[in-house]
Amino acid sequence: MNRREFSAALAAGLLSSRQSLGSAPAFWLRSSPSVNGERLNRHLTEISRFGANPQGGVTRLAYSDADRDAREYVLGLMRDARLSPTIDAAGNIIASRAGSNAALKPILFGSHIDSVPEGGNYDGNVGSLAAIEVAQSLGEQGITTRHPLQVVIWQNEEGGLYGSRAVSGQLTAEELQNVSRSGKTIADGIKFLGGDPQRLAEARRTKGDIAGYLELHIEQGGTLEREHLDIGIVEGIVGIKQWEVTVTGFANHAGTTPMDQRHDALLAAARFVEAVNRVVTSVPGRQVGTVGRMQAFPGAPNVIPGQVVCTLELRDLDAAKIDALYSRISAEATRIGGENGTTFAFHMLHENVPAPSDPRVRQLIAESAKALGLTTKVMPSGAGHDAQAMATLGPMGMIFIPSVAGISHSPREFSKPNDIVNGANVLMGALMRMDEWGQRAGDGG
Ligand SMILES: [Zn+2]
Repeated sequence: MNRREFSAALAAGLLSSRQSLGSAPAFWLRSSPSVNGERLNRHLTEISRFGANPQGGVTRLAYSDADRDAREYVLGLMRDARLSPTIDAAGNIIASRAGSNAALKPILFGSHIDSVPEGGNYDGNVGSLAAIEVAQSLGEQGITTRHPLQVVIWQNEEGGLYGSRAVSGQLTAEELQNVSRSGKTIADGIKFLGGDPQRLAEARRTKGDIAGYLELHIEQGGTLEREHLDIGIVEGIVGIKQWEVTVTGFANHAGTTPMDQRHDALLAAARFVEAVNRVVTSVPGRQVGTVGRMQAFPGAPNVIPGQVVCTLELRDLDAAKIDALYSRISAEATRIGGENGTTFAFHMLHENVPAPSDPRVRQLIAESAKALGLTTKVMPSGAGHDAQAMATLGPMGMIFIPSVAGISHSPREFSKPNDIVNGANVLMGALMRMDEWGQRAGDGG
């Protein structure tokens, strides 16, 4: 930063007293680094041809030819950026850049480039290409960080965070036999990408192996755009619990059974849906609850439904809140069942524990955005991300940029080029600030 910027930063209270001119950390004394935004947006356009679909979006399923080709393209970008990319045993691409202090743990940053069927060109790609761009810009500007840097492109995020969970040790051996949307099993997919499912342990890291993790991502919701804000600082990735709910009544003739003699499972299920909505909205907060699937049996126009199978899903940043909502919903279900002689049984299908971001990393992101004159909001991520696996290994932070109209997982997904550049610059600033960690003795790092 130049003198005028430094004064402005001082006036804005961005520099603490220990960061007065005399003892300013190294990065304040360099000219304020920023990315090459034109190049970043060009790369984003270029990667969109891998798996381009007629609707204007991208279908780049993990382990497909389009995925492999896009990874080749990314490896080329990394080499152009003078990084040394390798593929780990889990099939993730990891490109390293040495720091000045080899004793420090690496700072990881990146995202994914696989997509959902008929997805868009921004989910994952923005954060992946921005990470490479940040590393390239550092090199071009002659900046060497203290920590080693690792740009990571996680494999198969959309199928269930397979690459990042292999690294965090959460991936089970049984899951390697799951069949991915590409048709290949996870094990075969890992081989297809150049990994080795027999040697996953080599890709594994444990808590404390990383200095920190940063990920830039599109919001995939409409909050930032609606509130005219530039940057979202992710408070954490919400926890998710899903149940299969079976409502059992008694199937009987729809013509001969009087209304007061019925044990109608579908009527009870309908009341249940209403109760879920009522309970979830009865307390303040950003929790969400959904009944997303429902089937009635035997499923005939002239038979009273004897059984209904539906789902319940609850999400929040606070696991205890999810549990409290669930017990109220299950009490409601018992009450509803009592009204018409039906019973409710809950079977848990899936659980994702909430992954809070690290408050210190949130602070770095806030400072980085403020130094660039960008507006921010602290917000939860309602969608899952590789960052939640990394949160188990070290301090994690995520940066969101606006999604136009809040649309994602669709060919209509779009983020503005300028917002993408803003996000990449915030990522760069946060990374530079994280690199100052452990500067002083006893600081950890
Ligand atoms: Zn994503």
